[in-house]
Amino acid sequence: MITGNPHVSVTRRYRFSAAHRLHVDHLPDDVNQKIFGKCNNPNGHGHDYTVFVTVTGGVDPHTGFLTDHDALDHVVQEKVVARFDHQHLNYDPVFGKMVTTGENLAKFIWGELVESIAPAQLEKIGLIETRDNYFEYRGERQNTKM
Ligand SMILES: [Zn+2]
Repeated sequence: MITGNPHVSVTRRYRFSAAHRLHVDHLPDDVNQKIFGKCNNPNGHGHDYTVFVTVTGGVDPHTGFLTDHDALDHVVQEKVVARFDHQHLNYDPVFGKMVTTGENLAKFIWGELVESIAPAQLEKIGLIETRDNYFEYRGERQNTKM
């Protein structure tokens, strides 16, 4: 049984490299160019993404851990890293109708993980896209009772 201060959090870092193109299909090319600038380059471009997965919950009194790091790593590897690493994000089905911005990527990663990391709870997704672009997303939790 896990008890203790529910406000402890742990953040693990993951990485993947992927290509994308910021583009809205139903808008004219000149409008896309105006909105997205060089990120609208037809050939796409790549990023080395860094994902920070922050989980919160009680500390197990026996192990002293909030979460099983190996189990968390396995889930993130399977649902995020393996899915996107060395892929073109625009060809992933989830981005069929959604622009491959850091905002949307962070929200999608939250949705993939939020139900998969019990008994800990997801607190935040952080996503570094470039040196100057960092995104954070805190979505709805399935169970807010801690
Ligand atoms: Zn980009």
